[in-house]
Amino acid sequence: MTSPSDAFAERISGAPGVVVRAGTVLTMDDRRTVLPNADVHLVGDRIAAVGPQLDVPEGTVEIDAGGGIVMPGMIDTHRHMWQTAMRAYGADWTLTQYFVWYYLEWGKVFRPQDIHAGNLVSAIEAVDAGVTTSVDWSHGLQTVEHAEAAVDALRSVPGRFVLAYGNIQQGPWVWSVSAEFRDFVARTPRSDMLGLQLAFDVTGDPEFPEKAAFEAARDLGISVTTHAGVWGATNDVGIRQMHEHGFMTPSTVYVHAATLTNDSYHRIAASGGSVSVATESEQSCGQGYPPTWVLRSHDIPVSLSMDTSVWQSADLFSAMRSTLGADRSRVHLEAHAKGDTVTHSHLRAADVVEFATRGGATALGMDDLVGSLEVGKKADVVVIKNDHSPVMFPLVNPYGHVVMQAQRGDVHTVIVDGRVLKHDGRLVGIDLAPARAAVESTVEYLKATLGTEAWEKGMNPDIPERALLENPYQYSDLAMPTAEEPDPEPEPSGT
Ligand SMILES: [Zn+2]
Repeated sequence: MTSPSDAFAERISGAPGVVVRAGTVLTMDDRRTVLPNADVHLVGDRIAAVGPQLDVPEGTVEIDAGGGIVMPGMIDTHRHMWQTAMRAYGADWTLTQYFVWYYLEWGKVFRPQDIHAGNLVSAIEAVDAGVTTSVDWSHGLQTVEHAEAAVDALRSVPGRFVLAYGNIQQGPWVWSVSAEFRDFVARTPRSDMLGLQLAFDVTGDPEFPEKAAFEAARDLGISVTTHAGVWGATNDVGIRQMHEHGFMTPSTVYVHAATLTNDSYHRIAASGGSVSVATESEQSCGQGYPPTWVLRSHDIPVSLSMDTSVWQSADLFSAMRSTLGADRSRVHLEAHAKGDTVTHSHLRAADVVEFATRGGATALGMDDLVGSLEVGKKADVVVIKNDHSPVMFPLVNPYGHVVMQAQRGDVHTVIVDGRVLKHDGRLVGIDLAPARAAVESTVEYLKATLGTEAWEKGMNPDIPERALLENPYQYSDLAMPTAEEPDPEPEPSGT
């Protein structure tokens, strides 16, 4: 028996192309052109035409996007994919608990097959959620065997990926200059389906030992991505060191950049780099306040990221919505502190859709390939459509709809490099069973290695004591609440 997705896979194999018909098309071109009731025609790995009622060759597979939204594939510029093997384990963690668990205590027990398992499920999940390009911020690569495993997993899923090579178990000035690493880089072919970055952080050590890693990146022609402006971990000193040594370039991606001063933002802006904002992570973990509200005043380009599935999933709808909310929340708060009222919002729904598409493409130096639906670009397309959902109509404000109404369950079709990987809400030609088995085996291994007590304790950190305020009022069902001596100015809560 064949499933509907198998039957679809059969239908598209050998077809001269694919046409996505009659959707509201968010091209995300320079003018942010929106085309109602338009088609996107794909031939091979490229976009051949975008417009209304396109003529296409006989045999072209038609995908009906009527009533839906067609947009470029989304791009996540920072995701620790190996950690997806522990999905949701750290939902109640702070950043400190994350550091203790992975950096100090347990990160080193991950074997190559565990990296593979996490990457495999994470890669499939990304495609399923309409994230057609993901940067695998892979900082658990203790050995080159771990790196091979990471790459094998990424290659086995036909999404677009960038391996950001890192290793938290060793200084970057050690591993980045090792013969093994050089050899790995030399024998791992790079393409627009699998790119390469160097991933490490600059701690602010006055000796600036990371200099050697930056030099290695420069020698190899590889861009650097770095967690910058992370409360308690990285700060202005690292930015200044990078700047003074000439290591800040337009292709450098600063992740979070949430606790920097204007001086650092000026240096980032002047050198043309971009910031990967991981709003949900920043809100839960404490790297700093999601910085889009301040990046705006420096004109620093933004892309979005989910960080890690030990907390969040690969859901860029959630990233767009939380980023818009956090930005507006901060702007209101700043105004209220001055007794002002915000009457017009700076950040718009269209802006965060751009962060999630074009912004990622620009950050990765791939703007000529992906990030918008324009003729000649790679065929990375997402259709948002759900005929069973009351949330898909009316469709009056497409950007607002994508950001505030749609969700990953509404991702109907996903096409990467011209290949249809999801159709009618179901993955096409991608089998979940091996990923499920691999992840289950990693979880079993981790539980056995940590022991039940450490495993449970790691997942359920202590809750700090709650300080209850003295309440001057008392409730009685005989009378309205009264206070013996009402305090005209109660203490503010949340201190
Ligand atoms: Zn991160």
